[in-house]
Amino acid sequence: MNAFQEPTRRTLFEKIWDQHIVMPRPTGPSLLYIDRHIIHEGSFHAFKDLRARGLSIRNPKQVFGVADHYVPTTSRDPNDAVTQEIKEVILKFDDNMNWSGAHYFSINDPQQGIVHVVGPEQGISLPGSIITCSDSHTSTHGAMGAMAFGVGQSESMHIMATQTLWQTKPLQMRIELTGKPAAGVGGKDIILAVIAKLGVAGAVGYAIEYAGSALQWLSLDERLTMCNMTIEAGARSGLIAADDLVFDYVYGRKFAPQGAAWDQALQVWRQLPSDEGCHFDQTLSIDVTRLSPMITWGTTPDTGVAIDGVIPDPSLLTDPHARQAALAALTYMALTPGTILSTIKIDRVFIGSCTNSRLSDLRLAADILRGRRAVVPGIVVAGSMLIKQAAEAEGLDKVFQAAGLEWREPGCSMCVGINGDLALANERVASTSNRNFVGRQGPGVRTHLVSPAMAAAAAVTGHFTDVRTLMGQQ
Ligand code: SF4
Repeated sequence: MNAFQEPTRRTLFEKIWDQHIVMPRPTGPSLLYIDRHIIHEGSFHAFKDLRARGLSIRNPKQVFGVADHYVPTTSRDPNDAVTQEIKEVILKFDDNMNWSGAHYFSINDPQQGIVHVVGPEQGISLPGSIITCSDSHTSTHGAMGAMAFGVGQSESMHIMATQTLWQTKPLQMRIELTGKPAAGVGGKDIILAVIAKLGVAGAVGYAIEYAGSALQWLSLDERLTMCNMTIEAGARSGLIAADDLVFDYVYGRKFAPQGAAWDQALQVWRQLPSDEGCHFDQTLSIDVTRLSPMITWGTTPDTGVAIDGVIPDPSLLTDPHARQAALAALTYMALTPGTILSTIKIDRVFIGSCTNSRLSDLRLAADILRGRRAVVPGIVVAGSMLIKQAAEAEGLDKVFQAAGLEWREPGCSMCVGINGDLALANERVASTSNRNFVGRQGPGVRTHLVSPAMAAAAAVTGHFTDVRTLMGQQ
Protein backbone atom coordinates (compact mmCIF):
# COMPACT_ATOMS: atom_id res chain seq x y z
CA MET A 1 0.00 0.00 0.00
CA ASN A 2 1.47 3.39 -0.90
CA ALA A 3 0.87 6.58 1.10
CA PHE A 4 -2.06 7.62 -1.14
CA GLN A 5 -4.02 4.38 -0.95
CA GLU A 6 -6.92 4.10 1.45
CA PRO A 7 -6.57 1.09 3.76
CA THR A 8 -9.25 -1.51 2.94
CA ARG A 9 -12.19 -1.22 5.24
CA ARG A 10 -13.49 -4.65 6.16
CA THR A 11 -16.44 -6.11 7.99
CA LEU A 12 -16.03 -8.27 11.10
CA PHE A 13 -16.84 -11.31 8.97
CA GLU A 14 -14.26 -10.40 6.33
CA LYS A 15 -11.54 -9.94 8.93
CA ILE A 16 -12.18 -13.41 10.36
CA TRP A 17 -12.41 -14.88 6.85
CA ASP A 18 -9.11 -13.33 5.73
CA GLN A 19 -7.28 -14.57 8.83
CA HIS A 20 -8.34 -18.15 8.15
CA ILE A 21 -7.60 -18.58 4.46
CA VAL A 22 -5.30 -21.52 3.83
CA MET A 23 -5.70 -21.55 0.06
CA PRO A 24 -7.42 -18.59 -1.61
CA ARG A 25 -9.29 -18.79 -4.87
CA PRO A 26 -10.35 -15.64 -6.76
CA THR A 27 -13.59 -17.34 -7.73
CA GLY A 28 -15.35 -20.24 -6.09
CA PRO A 29 -14.60 -21.67 -2.68
CA SER A 30 -11.46 -21.00 -0.62
CA LEU A 31 -9.90 -23.43 1.81
CA LEU A 32 -10.41 -22.19 5.37
CA TYR A 33 -8.76 -23.20 8.63
CA ILE A 34 -11.32 -24.35 11.19
CA ASP A 35 -10.43 -23.47 14.76
CA ARG A 36 -12.94 -25.63 16.55
CA HIS A 37 -15.35 -28.30 15.36
CA ILE A 38 -18.21 -29.61 17.48
CA ILE A 39 -20.03 -32.87 16.81
CA HIS A 40 -22.92 -34.83 18.30
CA GLU A 41 -24.28 -38.39 18.19
CA GLY A 42 -25.37 -37.96 14.56
CA SER A 43 -21.65 -38.06 13.66
CA PHE A 44 -21.72 -41.85 13.21
CA HIS A 45 -21.80 -41.35 9.41
CA ALA A 46 -18.68 -39.15 9.49
CA PHE A 47 -16.84 -41.55 11.82
CA LYS A 48 -17.79 -44.54 9.68
CA ASP A 49 -16.31 -42.84 6.63
CA LEU A 50 -13.24 -41.64 8.53
CA ARG A 51 -12.49 -45.06 9.98
CA ALA A 52 -13.23 -46.90 6.72
CA ARG A 53 -10.60 -44.77 4.97
CA GLY A 54 -8.01 -45.49 7.64
CA LEU A 55 -7.95 -41.83 8.72
CA SER A 56 -7.90 -40.34 12.20
CA ILE A 57 -8.79 -36.95 13.66
CA ARG A 58 -5.99 -34.58 12.63
CA ASN A 59 -6.10 -32.49 15.79
CA PRO A 60 -8.25 -34.02 18.54
CA LYS A 61 -7.71 -30.92 20.72
CA GLN A 62 -9.81 -28.91 18.27
CA VAL A 63 -12.72 -31.32 18.09
CA PHE A 64 -15.43 -31.51 20.75
CA GLY A 65 -18.09 -34.18 21.02
CA VAL A 66 -21.33 -33.41 22.87
CA ALA A 67 -24.11 -35.96 23.40
CA ASP A 68 -27.36 -34.03 23.03
CA HIS A 69 -29.59 -34.98 20.07
CA TYR A 70 -30.43 -38.58 20.99
CA VAL A 71 -30.04 -38.60 24.78
CA PRO A 72 -33.08 -39.20 27.00
CA THR A 73 -34.15 -36.25 29.15
CA THR A 74 -35.80 -38.48 31.76
CA SER A 75 -32.47 -39.73 33.11
CA ARG A 76 -28.74 -39.90 32.34
CA ASP A 77 -28.90 -43.60 31.52
CA PRO A 78 -28.63 -44.67 27.85
CA ASN A 79 -30.79 -47.67 28.83
CA ASP A 80 -33.68 -45.21 29.13
CA ALA A 81 -33.39 -44.31 25.44
CA VAL A 82 -36.80 -44.56 23.84
CA THR A 83 -35.73 -47.34 21.44
CA GLN A 84 -32.89 -49.85 21.19
CA GLU A 85 -31.77 -48.14 17.98
CA ILE A 86 -31.42 -44.76 19.73
CA LYS A 87 -29.55 -46.38 22.62
CA GLU A 88 -27.11 -47.88 20.11
CA VAL A 89 -26.51 -44.44 18.54
CA ILE A 90 -25.65 -43.03 21.99
CA LEU A 91 -23.30 -45.94 22.71
CA LYS A 92 -21.76 -45.70 19.25
CA PHE A 93 -20.91 -42.06 19.98
CA ASP A 94 -19.15 -43.19 23.19
CA ASP A 95 -17.16 -45.68 21.12
CA ASN A 96 -16.26 -43.17 18.39
CA MET A 97 -15.29 -40.47 20.86
CA ASN A 98 -13.11 -42.85 22.89
CA TRP A 99 -11.40 -43.89 19.65
CA SER A 100 -10.95 -40.28 18.51
CA GLY A 101 -9.12 -38.89 21.52
CA ALA A 102 -11.12 -35.65 21.16
CA HIS A 103 -12.78 -33.85 24.08
CA TYR A 104 -16.01 -35.55 25.02
CA PHE A 105 -19.05 -34.35 26.94
CA SER A 106 -20.88 -37.67 27.27
CA ILE A 107 -24.41 -38.15 28.58
CA ASN A 108 -22.95 -38.57 32.07
CA ASP A 109 -20.53 -35.68 31.97
CA PRO A 110 -21.29 -32.98 34.57
CA GLN A 111 -20.72 -30.39 31.82
CA GLN A 112 -22.88 -32.07 29.15
CA GLY A 113 -25.54 -30.02 27.40
CA ILE A 114 -26.72 -28.92 23.97
CA VAL A 115 -23.87 -28.33 21.49
CA HIS A 116 -24.64 -24.62 21.06
CA VAL A 117 -24.97 -24.08 24.79
CA VAL A 118 -21.84 -26.02 25.75
CA GLY A 119 -19.68 -24.21 23.16
CA PRO A 120 -19.89 -20.72 24.70
CA GLU A 121 -20.21 -22.09 28.23
CA GLN A 122 -16.91 -23.99 28.03
CA GLY A 123 -14.98 -21.23 26.23
CA ILE A 124 -14.87 -23.35 23.07
CA SER A 125 -16.55 -20.54 21.09
CA LEU A 126 -14.11 -17.65 20.97
CA PRO A 127 -14.22 -14.23 19.28
CA GLY A 128 -12.49 -14.15 15.91
CA SER A 129 -12.54 -17.91 15.49
CA ILE A 130 -14.20 -20.14 12.92
CA ILE A 131 -16.47 -22.68 14.53
CA THR A 132 -18.25 -25.47 12.71
CA CYS A 133 -20.70 -28.02 13.98
CA SER A 134 -22.80 -30.72 12.36
CA ASP A 135 -26.01 -28.92 13.32
CA SER A 136 -27.72 -26.21 11.31
CA HIS A 137 -28.02 -23.77 14.24
CA THR A 138 -24.25 -23.37 14.62
CA SER A 139 -24.77 -19.71 13.77
CA THR A 140 -25.52 -19.38 17.51
CA HIS A 141 -21.79 -19.04 18.26
CA GLY A 142 -21.67 -15.89 16.12
CA ALA A 143 -22.91 -14.02 19.20
CA MET A 144 -19.42 -14.54 20.62
CA GLY A 145 -17.94 -12.53 17.73
CA ALA A 146 -17.09 -15.71 15.82
CA MET A 147 -17.78 -16.91 12.30
CA ALA A 148 -19.85 -20.05 12.81
CA PHE A 149 -21.81 -22.25 10.44
CA GLY A 150 -23.36 -25.69 10.28
CA VAL A 151 -21.90 -28.47 8.14
CA GLY A 152 -23.12 -31.81 6.80
CA GLN A 153 -21.62 -35.14 7.80
CA SER A 154 -19.27 -35.41 4.79
CA GLU A 155 -17.95 -31.89 5.51
CA SER A 156 -17.64 -32.87 9.16
CA MET A 157 -15.45 -35.81 8.16
CA HIS A 158 -13.31 -33.51 6.00
CA ILE A 159 -12.82 -31.14 8.96
CA MET A 160 -11.97 -33.97 11.33
CA ALA A 161 -9.39 -35.33 8.87
CA THR A 162 -7.84 -32.00 7.80
CA GLN A 163 -9.02 -29.22 10.20
CA THR A 164 -9.98 -27.29 7.04
CA LEU A 165 -13.02 -26.80 4.83
CA TRP A 166 -13.74 -25.36 1.39
CA GLN A 167 -16.19 -22.48 1.65
CA THR A 168 -17.62 -19.85 -0.68
CA LYS A 169 -17.51 -16.39 0.85
CA PRO A 170 -21.03 -15.09 1.50
CA LEU A 171 -22.23 -11.55 0.84
CA GLN A 172 -22.42 -9.17 3.78
CA MET A 173 -25.66 -7.90 5.33
CA ARG A 174 -25.86 -5.48 8.25
CA ILE A 175 -28.99 -5.30 10.37
CA GLU A 176 -29.10 -2.18 12.49
CA LEU A 177 -31.26 -2.58 15.58
CA THR A 178 -32.23 0.71 17.16
CA GLY A 179 -34.29 1.72 20.17
CA LYS A 180 -35.00 -0.06 23.43
CA PRO A 181 -37.24 -3.15 23.61
CA ALA A 182 -40.33 -2.77 25.79
CA ALA A 183 -40.73 -4.89 28.94
CA GLY A 184 -41.79 -8.38 27.92
CA VAL A 185 -40.01 -8.10 24.56
CA GLY A 186 -36.60 -9.74 24.17
CA GLY A 187 -34.13 -11.39 21.82
CA LYS A 188 -36.57 -14.11 20.69
CA ASP A 189 -39.20 -11.54 19.72
CA ILE A 190 -36.62 -9.43 17.89
CA ILE A 191 -35.27 -12.33 15.84
CA LEU A 192 -38.79 -13.53 14.99
CA ALA A 193 -39.51 -9.98 13.76
CA VAL A 194 -36.28 -9.96 11.73
CA ILE A 195 -37.11 -13.30 10.08
CA ALA A 196 -40.69 -12.16 9.40
CA LYS A 197 -39.27 -9.14 7.62
CA LEU A 198 -36.64 -11.03 5.60
CA GLY A 199 -38.60 -14.21 4.85
CA VAL A 200 -37.11 -17.71 5.00
CA ALA A 201 -34.98 -17.08 1.90
CA GLY A 202 -34.34 -13.36 2.38
CA ALA A 203 -30.76 -13.81 3.54
CA VAL A 204 -29.68 -16.74 1.36
CA GLY A 205 -26.04 -16.22 0.35
CA TYR A 206 -25.41 -13.72 3.17
CA ALA A 207 -23.72 -13.53 6.53
CA ILE A 208 -25.65 -11.15 8.78
CA GLU A 209 -23.98 -8.83 11.25
CA TYR A 210 -26.25 -7.33 13.92
CA ALA A 211 -25.29 -3.90 15.16
CA GLY A 212 -26.89 -0.78 16.57
CA SER A 213 -27.89 0.87 19.80
CA ALA A 214 -30.47 -1.78 20.74
CA LEU A 215 -27.75 -4.34 21.42
CA GLN A 216 -26.86 -2.57 24.67
CA TRP A 217 -30.23 -3.66 26.07
CA LEU A 218 -29.78 -7.32 25.17
CA SER A 219 -28.08 -9.91 27.34
CA LEU A 220 -25.51 -12.30 25.89
CA ASP A 221 -28.14 -15.04 26.13
CA GLU A 222 -30.47 -12.94 23.97
CA ARG A 223 -27.71 -12.30 21.44
CA LEU A 224 -27.12 -16.08 21.29
CA THR A 225 -30.85 -16.58 20.66
CA MET A 226 -30.76 -14.08 17.81
CA CYS A 227 -27.70 -15.54 16.10
CA ASN A 228 -29.13 -19.02 16.65
CA MET A 229 -32.24 -18.28 14.56
CA THR A 230 -30.45 -16.21 11.92
CA ILE A 231 -30.22 -19.24 9.65
CA GLU A 232 -34.03 -19.37 9.57
CA ALA A 233 -33.85 -16.41 7.18
CA GLY A 234 -31.50 -18.46 4.99
CA ALA A 235 -28.25 -16.78 6.12
CA ARG A 236 -25.03 -18.77 6.36
CA SER A 237 -24.02 -17.09 9.63
CA GLY A 238 -25.17 -14.46 12.07
CA LEU A 239 -22.68 -12.56 14.15
CA ILE A 240 -22.25 -9.69 16.57
CA ALA A 241 -18.96 -7.95 17.29
CA ALA A 242 -17.55 -9.11 20.62
CA ASP A 243 -17.45 -6.46 23.34
CA ASP A 244 -16.75 -6.40 27.07
CA LEU A 245 -19.94 -8.39 27.71
CA VAL A 246 -18.43 -11.26 25.68
CA PHE A 247 -14.86 -10.86 26.97
CA ASP A 248 -16.04 -10.91 30.60
CA TYR A 249 -18.12 -14.01 29.88
CA VAL A 250 -15.29 -15.88 28.14
CA TYR A 251 -12.59 -15.00 30.67
CA GLY A 252 -11.45 -17.99 32.74
CA ARG A 253 -13.57 -20.56 30.90
CA LYS A 254 -12.04 -23.99 30.44
CA PHE A 255 -11.06 -23.82 26.75
CA ALA A 256 -10.40 -20.05 26.56
CA PRO A 257 -6.83 -18.73 26.43
CA GLN A 258 -5.23 -18.25 29.85
CA GLY A 259 -2.54 -15.94 31.27
CA ALA A 260 -0.39 -14.13 28.69
CA ALA A 261 -2.27 -15.87 25.88
CA TRP A 262 -5.46 -14.20 27.12
CA ASP A 263 -3.91 -10.72 26.94
CA GLN A 264 -2.66 -11.39 23.41
CA ALA A 265 -6.01 -12.75 22.31
CA LEU A 266 -7.84 -9.77 23.77
CA GLN A 267 -5.62 -7.38 21.81
CA VAL A 268 -6.48 -9.19 18.58
CA TRP A 269 -10.19 -9.47 19.39
CA ARG A 270 -10.49 -5.73 20.04
CA GLN A 271 -9.37 -5.09 16.44
CA LEU A 272 -12.11 -7.24 14.92
CA PRO A 273 -15.25 -5.06 14.85
CA SER A 274 -16.27 -3.90 11.36
CA ASP A 275 -14.36 -0.82 10.21
CA GLU A 276 -16.23 2.47 10.10
CA GLY A 277 -17.54 2.99 6.55
CA CYS A 278 -16.92 -0.62 5.39
CA HIS A 279 -19.09 -1.99 2.61
CA PHE A 280 -22.17 -4.13 3.22
CA ASP A 281 -24.02 -5.60 0.25
CA GLN A 282 -27.34 -5.02 1.99
CA THR A 283 -28.47 -3.10 5.04
CA LEU A 284 -31.67 -3.13 7.02
CA SER A 285 -32.82 -1.14 10.02
CA ILE A 286 -35.39 -2.16 12.62
CA ASP A 287 -36.63 -0.04 15.52
CA VAL A 288 -37.18 -2.59 18.30
CA THR A 289 -39.08 -0.04 20.42
CA ARG A 290 -42.19 -0.77 18.39
CA LEU A 291 -42.10 -4.56 18.77
CA SER A 292 -44.58 -6.61 20.77
CA PRO A 293 -44.07 -10.21 21.98
CA MET A 294 -44.14 -12.41 18.87
CA ILE A 295 -45.71 -15.73 17.96
CA THR A 296 -45.56 -17.75 14.74
CA TRP A 297 -48.83 -18.90 13.21
CA GLY A 298 -47.57 -21.01 10.27
CA THR A 299 -45.17 -23.82 9.42
CA THR A 300 -42.09 -21.70 8.72
CA PRO A 301 -40.26 -19.43 11.18
CA ASP A 302 -40.99 -16.32 9.07
CA THR A 303 -44.66 -16.40 10.06
CA GLY A 304 -44.10 -14.41 13.23
CA VAL A 305 -46.71 -11.79 14.16
CA ALA A 306 -47.30 -9.61 17.20
CA ILE A 307 -49.42 -11.31 19.90
CA ASP A 308 -51.86 -8.39 19.88
CA GLY A 309 -52.79 -9.16 16.25
CA VAL A 310 -54.84 -11.70 14.32
CA ILE A 311 -54.12 -14.62 11.98
CA PRO A 312 -53.34 -12.99 8.62
CA ASP A 313 -55.49 -13.48 5.54
CA PRO A 314 -53.66 -15.33 2.70
CA SER A 315 -56.11 -13.94 0.13
CA LEU A 316 -54.40 -10.57 0.55
CA LEU A 317 -51.12 -11.99 -0.77
CA THR A 318 -50.47 -11.10 -4.41
CA ASP A 319 -47.86 -13.81 -5.05
CA PRO A 320 -49.81 -17.01 -5.92
CA HIS A 321 -47.07 -19.30 -4.54
CA ALA A 322 -46.94 -17.42 -1.23
CA ARG A 323 -50.77 -17.49 -1.08
CA GLN A 324 -50.84 -21.25 -1.69
CA ALA A 325 -48.15 -21.86 0.93
CA ALA A 326 -50.00 -19.72 3.51
CA LEU A 327 -53.26 -21.57 2.85
CA ALA A 328 -51.52 -24.94 3.25
CA ALA A 329 -49.93 -23.73 6.49
CA LEU A 330 -53.27 -22.57 7.87
CA THR A 331 -54.86 -25.92 7.02
CA TYR A 332 -52.07 -27.83 8.78
CA MET A 333 -52.22 -25.50 11.77
CA ALA A 334 -56.06 -25.68 11.86
CA LEU A 335 -56.35 -21.89 11.96
CA THR A 336 -58.65 -19.39 10.30
CA PRO A 337 -57.74 -15.90 9.01
CA GLY A 338 -58.85 -13.11 11.34
CA THR A 339 -58.69 -15.25 14.51
CA ILE A 340 -57.50 -13.19 17.47
CA LEU A 341 -54.19 -14.77 18.49
CA SER A 342 -54.93 -14.62 22.21
CA THR A 343 -58.00 -16.85 21.73
CA ILE A 344 -55.98 -19.78 20.34
CA LYS A 345 -55.85 -22.62 22.88
CA ILE A 346 -52.75 -24.72 23.39
CA ASP A 347 -52.28 -28.34 24.50
CA ARG A 348 -48.66 -28.43 25.58
CA VAL A 349 -45.61 -26.32 26.37
CA PHE A 350 -41.94 -26.88 25.64
CA ILE A 351 -39.32 -24.63 27.25
CA GLY A 352 -35.87 -25.62 26.04
CA SER A 353 -33.60 -26.04 22.96
CA CYS A 354 -30.39 -24.24 22.02
CA THR A 355 -32.53 -21.17 21.26
CA ASN A 356 -33.99 -20.64 24.73
CA SER A 357 -32.67 -22.94 27.47
CA ARG A 358 -30.10 -20.72 29.14
CA LEU A 359 -30.34 -19.51 32.71
CA SER A 360 -31.89 -16.14 31.86
CA ASP A 361 -34.49 -17.91 29.67
CA LEU A 362 -35.44 -20.16 32.57
CA ARG A 363 -35.63 -17.16 34.91
CA LEU A 364 -37.99 -15.35 32.53
CA ALA A 365 -40.29 -18.37 32.36
CA ALA A 366 -40.12 -18.91 36.12
CA ASP A 367 -41.01 -15.26 36.78
CA ILE A 368 -44.35 -15.85 35.05
CA LEU A 369 -44.95 -19.34 36.50
CA ARG A 370 -44.08 -18.47 40.11
CA GLY A 371 -47.21 -18.83 42.26
CA ARG A 372 -49.30 -20.01 39.30
CA ARG A 373 -50.40 -23.40 37.91
CA ALA A 374 -50.01 -24.52 34.32
CA VAL A 375 -53.31 -25.75 32.88
CA VAL A 376 -51.57 -27.82 30.18
CA PRO A 377 -48.71 -30.35 30.42
CA GLY A 378 -45.21 -29.30 29.55
CA ILE A 379 -41.53 -29.92 29.99
CA VAL A 380 -38.68 -27.60 30.88
CA VAL A 381 -35.28 -28.76 29.65
CA ALA A 382 -32.19 -26.83 30.72
CA GLY A 383 -29.52 -26.29 28.05
CA SER A 384 -26.72 -27.87 30.04
CA MET A 385 -25.93 -29.62 33.29
CA LEU A 386 -24.28 -26.43 34.56
CA ILE A 387 -27.40 -24.39 33.77
CA LYS A 388 -29.55 -27.05 35.42
CA GLN A 389 -27.38 -26.88 38.52
CA ALA A 390 -27.49 -23.07 38.60
CA ALA A 391 -31.27 -23.07 38.09
CA GLU A 392 -31.72 -25.55 40.93
CA ALA A 393 -29.50 -23.43 43.19
CA GLU A 394 -31.97 -20.58 42.60
CA GLY A 395 -34.98 -22.82 43.17
CA LEU A 396 -36.26 -22.50 39.61
CA ASP A 397 -36.84 -26.25 39.38
CA LYS A 398 -39.22 -25.96 42.32
CA VAL A 399 -41.10 -23.12 40.58
CA PHE A 400 -41.57 -25.22 37.44
CA GLN A 401 -42.61 -28.31 39.37
CA ALA A 402 -45.00 -26.37 41.62
CA ALA A 403 -46.60 -25.04 38.44
CA GLY A 404 -47.08 -28.63 37.25
CA LEU A 405 -44.34 -28.75 34.59
CA GLU A 406 -41.70 -31.47 34.31
CA TRP A 407 -38.08 -30.54 35.01
CA ARG A 408 -35.89 -32.65 32.72
CA GLU A 409 -32.23 -33.47 32.07
CA PRO A 410 -30.38 -31.44 29.36
CA GLY A 411 -30.66 -32.34 25.68
CA CYS A 412 -32.27 -31.25 22.42
CA SER A 413 -35.53 -32.89 23.46
CA MET A 414 -38.67 -31.55 21.77
CA CYS A 415 -36.74 -29.18 19.50
CA VAL A 416 -36.42 -32.07 17.10
CA GLY A 417 -37.77 -35.05 19.01
CA ILE A 418 -35.10 -37.53 17.88
CA ASN A 419 -34.90 -38.82 21.45
CA GLY A 420 -38.63 -39.50 21.54
CA ASP A 421 -39.71 -36.30 23.35
CA LEU A 422 -42.70 -35.57 21.08
CA ALA A 423 -46.18 -34.13 21.32
CA LEU A 424 -49.25 -36.06 20.19
CA ALA A 425 -50.86 -35.73 16.77
CA ASN A 426 -53.02 -32.59 16.42
CA GLU A 427 -51.68 -31.08 19.62
CA ARG A 428 -50.83 -27.38 19.59
CA VAL A 429 -47.52 -26.58 21.28
CA ALA A 430 -46.17 -23.28 22.57
CA SER A 431 -42.48 -23.91 22.00
CA THR A 432 -39.32 -21.89 22.67
CA SER A 433 -37.42 -23.80 19.96
CA ASN A 434 -36.43 -22.55 16.51
CA ARG A 435 -38.41 -24.51 13.93
CA ASN A 436 -42.14 -24.92 13.45
CA PHE A 437 -41.94 -27.18 10.39
CA VAL A 438 -44.66 -29.72 9.64
CA GLY A 439 -44.09 -32.72 11.92
CA ARG A 440 -41.01 -31.24 13.65
CA GLN A 441 -42.36 -32.12 17.11
CA GLY A 442 -44.24 -35.23 15.96
CA PRO A 443 -46.61 -36.20 13.16
CA GLY A 444 -49.52 -33.76 12.95
CA VAL A 445 -48.17 -31.58 15.79
CA ARG A 446 -48.76 -27.81 15.45
CA THR A 447 -45.80 -25.83 16.72
CA HIS A 448 -45.90 -22.12 17.57
CA LEU A 449 -42.56 -20.45 18.25
CA VAL A 450 -42.51 -18.05 21.19
CA SER A 451 -40.19 -16.67 23.86
CA PRO A 452 -39.80 -18.44 27.23
CA ALA A 453 -41.97 -15.80 28.94
CA MET A 454 -44.69 -16.21 26.30
CA ALA A 455 -44.56 -20.02 26.62
CA ALA A 456 -44.98 -19.69 30.38
CA ALA A 457 -47.89 -17.24 29.92
CA ALA A 458 -49.63 -19.68 27.55
CA ALA A 459 -49.03 -22.51 30.04
CA VAL A 460 -50.90 -20.76 32.85
CA THR A 461 -53.82 -19.47 30.78
CA GLY A 462 -54.14 -22.38 28.32
CA HIS A 463 -54.15 -20.02 25.35
CA PHE A 464 -51.67 -17.64 23.76
CA THR A 465 -51.44 -14.62 26.01
CA ASP A 466 -49.63 -11.33 25.85
CA VAL A 467 -47.15 -11.92 28.66
CA ARG A 468 -47.23 -8.22 29.52
CA THR A 469 -50.72 -8.72 30.98
CA LEU A 470 -49.30 -11.19 33.54
CA MET A 471 -46.08 -9.44 34.44
CA GLY A 472 -45.71 -8.30 38.04
CA GLN A 473 -49.17 -9.55 39.03
CA GLN A 474 -48.30 -12.44 41.32
S1 SF4 B 1 -31.75 -27.98 20.21
FE1 SF4 B 1 -32.49 -28.28 18.11
S2 SF4 B 1 -31.43 -26.81 16.79
FE2 SF4 B 1 -30.39 -26.91 18.80
S3 SF4 B 1 -28.71 -28.34 18.49
FE3 SF4 B 1 -30.44 -29.53 19.27
S4 SF4 B 1 -31.59 -30.22 17.45
FE4 SF4 B 1 -30.14 -28.63 16.79
